[in-house]
Amino acid sequence: MEKRQAVRKQADWESEIRIRQWEGKEDALKQIEEDDAEHQLFTDGSGIKGMVGSSAVLYKGGRRISSLQMQLGKETEHEVFKGESVGPSLGLELLKKERSVSTVSLWIDNTAAISATGSMASGPAHYLMDHFHSLYSRLKQHHPNLMIMVGWVPGHEGVEGNEAADEEAKEAAVRGLSPKQLLPHTFRKSFPMSSSAARKMFAKDLNKTRDDMFRQSPRFTRFQKVAKGDATTVAQKFQTITKGLVKPHISILVHLRTGHCYLYAHLHCIRKIDSPHCPACKREPETVYHFLLQCPAH
Ligand SMILES: [Zn+2]
Repeated sequence: MEKRQAVRKQADWESEIRIRQWEGKEDALKQIEEDDAEHQLFTDGSGIKGMVGSSAVLYKGGRRISSLQMQLGKETEHEVFKGESVGPSLGLELLKKERSVSTVSLWIDNTAAISATGSMASGPAHYLMDHFHSLYSRLKQHHPNLMIMVGWVPGHEGVEGNEAADEEAKEAAVRGLSPKQLLPHTFRKSFPMSSSAARKMFAKDLNKTRDDMFRQSPRFTRFQKVAKGDATTVAQKFQTITKGLVKPHISILVHLRTGHCYLYAHLHCIRKIDSPHCPACKREPETVYHFLLQCPAH
């Protein structure tokens, strides 16, 4: 299981990675078009067919030069956000192979991952950003002029690098990873399970148990008359139906929908009286339907 440090950084820590500001999609796309950095990195994370993958694609002078893929594992153990957070480190690994590196634009389509690159908060998958920063420091030793600017690339807008990274991340999720020796050292072992993924899985199991119990309960069929569906849907529908009603009215509504009320059909059912027949017309059992819609005497 993933461990979170209470404090990741010193209070005076400042990220060396700069984050671009953008105003809306148009502005972001314009920034990419006008990007004059020496290298462009596009990274992405993806969850598909129950698996999570991550990728980085490196461009130089508008030409794609290399890429790296990593399969993180099952979606029940790793979140897609983790894939997004691994991407930047894969990108630095690609830069390591370059002879000279100075200005780099790192384009990511996930805003949470972008802010994580400059955050010292201790949240889910944030430890992966610590790897990113230490890889960055090591790379900076070899390339003192290294400067990375992180920016937002709107997804599915036809930006070539983003489309490529998206495709590679999906491929990584389904088919697997680049040879292990190409990945950053710390990523060669499998990642610990995400606590948030574990929580989600636990909640899913719990919901299933609750739905199963509800389905087996003798009240299930009766309550379907009030609202149809499994436990969660029924609870939500019930809240919608009864919104704004006072408790006595909710009680009447449930009585009418379930048929559990002081009408003869029900009183007979619970053996309080001998005959279920309507005391007024004496023609049919006195059900809610009969009482409200059929009975000529009421
Ligand atoms: Zn009647």
